[in-house]
Amino acid sequence: MPFTDLSIATSATMLPIQEIADKAGIPRKALELYGNFKAKIDVSSLPPATKNGKVVLVTAISPTPAGEGKSTVTVGLADAFNQLKESVIVALREPSLGPVMGMKGGATGGGFAQVLPMEDINLHFTGDIHAITTANNALSAFIDNHLHQGNELNLDPRRIAWKRVLDMNDRALRQITIGLGGPLQGVPRQDGFDITVASEIMAVLCLATSLEDLKEKLAQMVIAYTYDKEPVTVRQLGVEGALTMLLKDAFKPNLVQTIEGTPAIIHGGPFANIAHGCNSLMATNTARRLADIVVTEAGFGADLGAEKFMHIKSRKGNFHPDAVVIVATVRALKMHGGVAKNELTHPNADAVRRGMTNLAKHVDTVRQFGIEPVIALNRFMTDQEDEMHAIMEWAQENGVKIALTNVWEQGGKGGLELAKLVQQELMKPTEFKLLYDETDSVEEKLRVIVQQVYGGAGVQLTDNAKRKLNELKKYGWDALPICMAKTQYSLSDQPSLLGRPEGFTITIRDIIPKLGAGFLVCLTGDIMTMPGLPKQPAALKMDIDAAGNAVGLF
Ligand code: ADP
Repeated sequence: MPFTDLSIATSATMLPIQEIADKAGIPRKALELYGNFKAKIDVSSLPPATKNGKVVLVTAISPTPAGEGKSTVTVGLADAFNQLKESVIVALREPSLGPVMGMKGGATGGGFAQVLPMEDINLHFTGDIHAITTANNALSAFIDNHLHQGNELNLDPRRIAWKRVLDMNDRALRQITIGLGGPLQGVPRQDGFDITVASEIMAVLCLATSLEDLKEKLAQMVIAYTYDKEPVTVRQLGVEGALTMLLKDAFKPNLVQTIEGTPAIIHGGPFANIAHGCNSLMATNTARRLADIVVTEAGFGADLGAEKFMHIKSRKGNFHPDAVVIVATVRALKMHGGVAKNELTHPNADAVRRGMTNLAKHVDTVRQFGIEPVIALNRFMTDQEDEMHAIMEWAQENGVKIALTNVWEQGGKGGLELAKLVQQELMKPTEFKLLYDETDSVEEKLRVIVQQVYGGAGVQLTDNAKRKLNELKKYGWDALPICMAKTQYSLSDQPSLLGRPEGFTITIRDIIPKLGAGFLVCLTGDIMTMPGLPKQPAALKMDIDAAGNAVGLF
């Protein structure tokens, strides 16, 4: 049988989670066990922090639909640090069932660089995403009940800003009508579903730093507008306490392990194309107080996850990454060099050379934040010497550090060279800087992201987006960071514009204030907050045997 992520994961021997906790310096009293290999960390029972770990952010070039191995390299790099006897914790996002059942796959790394138990983590894990779904939909139920029971707050049913969510790709639920069937069945109105990872509650959970902070952020979420177009928040509905209670366990970070026994904290899981794409501040902060090095990732390319890691997560968490790794692959560079997706395994060093413009832009972006990136060339078995050589040569000519990384096949050993290069960067002081201030105008913030991060010419707002912007200004909500919702495949908002497109304009079609999370979501192109399933969903290959073992989970 060929190696699959699942077969490698299930043949690995796991240590009891208490041993992983001991290694991470987490006392037993701070450990809430979920079986033998998963636990929640009760942060309030941790001893006072003795460390203030450095943060290594792993990002990537603009990916192919299969992903370029960011999670894989993140896990493998942490295992490499572990082999070098560094005190290290890897901090990842929780997988969403949408991509697991759909096309993209899981989010537990791959090959010999995985977190375990991979099938549990990829399926329901410790239930955090379900708790977020429940809290989100409880709020919807409270809103509809309010409308039904006399509507004291004067909510306009045509202006309910809160949508229901489900952790699945389900295009049929994008637009729905509810409350049909007469006066006893509620107030009819149009509603819709987003995927749970796009819920503002997911973002709030990821950006809150304490239960009190979580409650306050939930209270600030705007749920609707009145008939007089005045915003109404969760606080006015009076349910922030109930929502926080529903999230009390989900708010605690989860502890698991890599195949090599490195402690891993997995918590929160917003997508980077439609949300802010970084795991929770609770996870990062907990890992930083326990380890000298925290290896973490932000979703998709540096134009999405890394930009939001800097401008949203770091800003709110009052820290910044100390080093950045950009994952590149021969296959994605070939795609950026014009090769069709079904021909990416055919040797083509010229296409790799043409595609380097995409990697060059992401290097340029990270440098603008004052950090010198290290490239991890994630090696696939089909990669040819001359293709890899083309990338190494470019890196040398352009003075960018690069390591050939083989963690998928070799685990931490295949990431030692990368880890050593990152160690060098961690020793240097960074001159980190953000590219915009929160108080800059929305137009200016958008201009900076589009011109400096995407390399585009400018931004254009549809009439709808202009109207939304005027409303934001009226309510005084414009001094918040931007959370772009954009395709991950291109630096532009057109998925087919590969490589390093230039001269393009980004069209903002809507601006959605997320006052609890504390950012403004700007929707570009035709990006959807509820994805659909592909013609051949990954689910078709999945099964479970009579002994209860998962089959076909990548
Ligand atoms: P990303 O985080 O960029 O989305 P992942 O790390 O989740 O990517 O990897 C996506 C898939 O690609 C996984 O199934 C993983 O096993 C596979 N993969 C990653 N790197 C390699 C590699 N070097 N060789 C073979 N398969 C790989």
